[in-house]
Amino acid sequence: MKDLNARLKQFKAAEYDVNREKYEKIVSSQNPHTLFITCSDSRIDVEKMMQADPGEIFHIRDIANIVPRERDPEEHISIVAAIEYAVQVLKVDNIVVCGHSNCGGCAALMHIEDYQAKLPHTSEWLLQSLPLRDYIRNKYSEESEAEQLVLLEKLNVFQQLVNIMTYGFVRDKVTAGTLELTGLYFNIATGIVSVYGYDPEMEDLLDRLVEDSTAG
Ligand SMILES: [Zn+2]
Repeated sequence: MKDLNARLKQFKAAEYDVNREKYEKIVSSQNPHTLFITCSDSRIDVEKMMQADPGEIFHIRDIANIVPRERDPEEHISIVAAIEYAVQVLKVDNIVVCGHSNCGGCAALMHIEDYQAKLPHTSEWLLQSLPLRDYIRNKYSEESEAEQLVLLEKLNVFQQLVNIMTYGFVRDKVTAGTLELTGLYFNIATGIVSVYGYDPEMEDLLDRLVEDSTAG
């Protein structure tokens, strides 16, 4: 990376040394309150968005912030292991799934047939959310391509909350009220982050999403 050494020196001098007390508190252990699952997209700066310090947020990032369902953990063991560790060992209070505008992963999913030959791994990953794409294509066919993409980006967040609930160790804590699930949608163009609570009623949620989208 260009300027790597300069960046690291700047981090040590302008961030670490200035906030040494903050870092001293987390030398020997971490106690994050939140597992934050979001897209790998470089435009999402989670700590800045959440106004959080190092040690507060445990991260999972992948293309289109997808959480594999419980039925096939072996295929996606790194994601499942991080969820398990966050919930069972770190005992986070919150799991947040954050989608975002202009998501390249969701945009690719809208036209996945064009990508399968060139990007087989990416396509296979994105195909986990294919039912959402098909649902939106069918039910909201009168909406523009851009509107359909926003719907997919938002519905995809809800789908991941539902997917996380397929893990017994998550479901038990959510049911007991010791773990909270939250969906976020970051609009990069406006800086507005919408907050959606977990709700298993996908149909009702979809209608709300459409209202949100058409309300601007
Ligand atoms: Zn994305």
